Amino acid sequence: MSDFDPPLECSVRDCAAALRPQPKRWSCERGHSFDIARSGYLSLLQPQDRRSLAAGDARETVAARRALLDLDFGAVLRTELVSLARSLALPTGALAVELGCGDGHFLAAICAALAWNGLGIDLSPHAVELCARRHPRLAWVAANADRRLPLRDESIDVACSIDGRRPVAELARVLRPRGALVIALPAADDLIELRTSVQGEDRGVSRVPAVEREFAGEFELLERRAARARVRLDRASLERLARATYRWQRNRERARFETLEPLDVTTSHDVLLLRRRAR
Ligand SMILES: [Zn+2]
Repeated sequence: MSDFDPPLECSVRDCAAALRPQPKRWSCERGHSFDIARSGYLSLLQPQDRRSLAAGDARETVAARRALLDLDFGAVLRTELVSLARSLALPTGALAVELGCGDGHFLAAICAALAWNGLGIDLSPHAVELCARRHPRLAWVAANADRRLPLRDESIDVACSIDGRRPVAELARVLRPRGALVIALPAADDLIELRTSVQGEDRGVSRVPAVEREFAGEFELLERRAARARVRLDRASLERLARATYRWQRNRERARFETLEPLDVTTSHDVLLLRRRAR
């Protein structure tokens, strides 16, 4: 399913044995088995994850996000992420994992630039299916990252969370000692023009202090960067943005949103580089 064998763990409740690749499937020593989908991704979803699936990205949300990125809405963030990853000076074949990888855009860009191996995890089978078709050299897994991560202890060089989940203890478990963690968060001024005109907000709040507190025990913060740009969005792109971010769905907001003319919108992220503390 990929150019390398990712260090996966069985997702059957309380099993957590190593998964080994077999023809067309992966299985653990206890006989639990997971078929590789025709498109090349592996689903480790369990029956109890089905409830969460409604919260995963629907096919149209994934498509909307993809279309925005194709417009280069994500270019400045992608450039910053690749630059930060490059600064780690890891060898070819280093393993990066992205939690909540969506359509895999950022992980694929990092791995292509640095010749790293990449493993993307997302709750949505639609999302990882799209990833597997577009980026068959990398590994793509549907799994619920809110529970135990389906990854072996201390097996990952770099973990990324881009507007995604951040399970601190699990990230500390799966990263190698001194492994790197890259977190991108929407900054206080992200989409500020839209939040002002549609929701009547005048300013946003930085999430960085809360994340620093959350990670202080297991990780040290090495670097903080800003990835910010203003992008002209036409009506169709504004619609995609609303769908891709689940925003402005309430009636009153919807009505205001529909009167918007094309406008310049700020896309802004705080990007943090952390390192797992040695134990
Ligand atoms: Zn098992």
